[in-house]
Amino acid sequence: MSLIIFIYGIVIGSFLNVCIYRIPNEESIVLPPSHCGSCNHRLGWLDLVPVLSYVFLKGKCRYCGQKISLRYPGVEVLTGLLWFGIYLRYGLTFEFFKYGVLTLFLIVIALIDYDTTDVYSCVVYPGIAAGIIFAILERIIYSGSLINYVVAALIGLFIIGGIYILTGGFGAGDIEIAVLCGVFLGWKLEIYFILISFIIGGAIGITLILMKKKSKTDYMPLGPSLAIGAYVALLMGETLILKLTGLG
Ligand SMILES: [Zn+2]
Repeated sequence: MSLIIFIYGIVIGSFLNVCIYRIPNEESIVLPPSHCGSCNHRLGWLDLVPVLSYVFLKGKCRYCGQKISLRYPGVEVLTGLLWFGIYLRYGLTFEFFKYGVLTLFLIVIALIDYDTTDVYSCVVYPGIAAGIIFAILERIIYSGSLINYVVAALIGLFIIGGIYILTGGFGAGDIEIAVLCGVFLGWKLEIYFILISFIIGGAIGITLILMKKKSKTDYMPLGPSLAIGAYVALLMGETLILKLTGLG
């Protein structure tokens, strides 16, 4: 079963690549069919098998020989691994599907933010809508609490929004990400998510400054830190926070 989940993740990761590449260029994610980014040659199914095509084509376009970024198979394998991680933690449950979907949105948001330093509302809003649908399903199937998710979204809105207004330390897009995570995570995991993201964002920032890749005044996209924070929170939020605070 684990292998099937991993393969599903890889295949979906291949679609995420299309989203990450096309959404900032305002291209449709459905049409035209996949083509080489440099020679525009239309790609056949043999060129599009996730990971394997990359390996067999030795990372080059079959038609023009242009190098294909290692990021394509990277995103595919990453998606597979992240889904595998959720499966290990939650099994094949309602949570698996819910957090699996959140992870897909976060991968796309984080990588587009990394590329463009912009958070795209056209990705975040459908994500928030998906989270609301999961919350309603949870209410119907398991009599879950809707308030839990409303509160979580508000926590994200006020904490990240507050820091944004007071210090300018976040971008407006980061507030949207925090709300997105809230509707999926519920209030408890949302708090863990914010704490863990602060730690990760700080660590990444300090590392980049020490490595002299960035200076203190450079703008650093925080989407990736928030995405990692959300994933770590949903995988091991409680245990980690208890350990860090010495309470557990
Ligand atoms: Zn080509």
